[in-house]
Amino acid sequence: MAVPKKKTSHRRTRQRRAHDSLNAPNLVACKKCGEMGMPHRACTTCGYYGDKKVLDVESGLAKKLKKQDNKEDDKS
Ligand SMILES: [Zn+2]
Repeated sequence: MAVPKKKTSHRRTRQRRAHDSLNAPNLVACKKCGEMGMPHRACTTCGYYGDKKVLDVESGLAKKLKKQDNKEDDKS
């Protein structure tokens, strides 16, 4: 196994990790509903991309609720 010859100094460690910070995601407001979301992606709240409806949000929500109900039935 390769073993480091010298202990990595605090300064070297900090210098290496200076580039490791995370940036906040760049969010834009939906033109239809005003909800914040990722740019160049369909809105997950209203299902619109620009002025076109591309996602069936209601059916997805119904599916999710049904799944939750099934989970709760399993518990009781
Ligand atoms: Zn929207």
